[in-house]
Amino acid sequence: MGDCLFCKISEGKISADKVFENDRIMAFRDINPQAPVHILIIPKIHISTLNDLENRHTELVGELIQVAKDLAKSEGIAEDGYRTGFNCNKAAGQTVFHIHLHLLGGRNFSWPPG
Ligand code: AMP
Ligand code: ZN
Repeated sequence: MGDCLFCKISEGKISADKVFENDRIMAFRDINPQAPVHILIIPKIHISTLNDLENRHTELVGELIQVAKDLAKSEGIAEDGYRTGFNCNKAAGQTVFHIHLHLLGGRNFSWPPG
């Protein structure tokens, strides 16, 4: 996808503070962190929003969550707890239209979220 920021990051055309990568997935620190740990976990293939998920993506989305779990452990936030989430479209505040799983930790979070 020519103009997608996160495609450019996954292709190495724009730099990011990368914390994990395999053939299918990349994770990097959010440029505007909302918590002491704030990591974005993305598939390397372009999927614009959760609304665009197809059955063939099921394993990939599961792997995003597995990566979040592993990073929570390596970042030292697993025991205290952490928040994960996908924002979908404008009511949820999605600003980058390439799906990304937020992993936030290192502080307490309120519920329900704002
Ligand atoms: P969302 O609002 O769910 O679409 O989240 C997009 C996130 O991407 C925001 O938390 C931004 O701070 C973050 N972001 C935007 N540009 C970059 C970038 N170049 N590198 C890392 N994170 C970014
Ligand atoms: Zn993309």
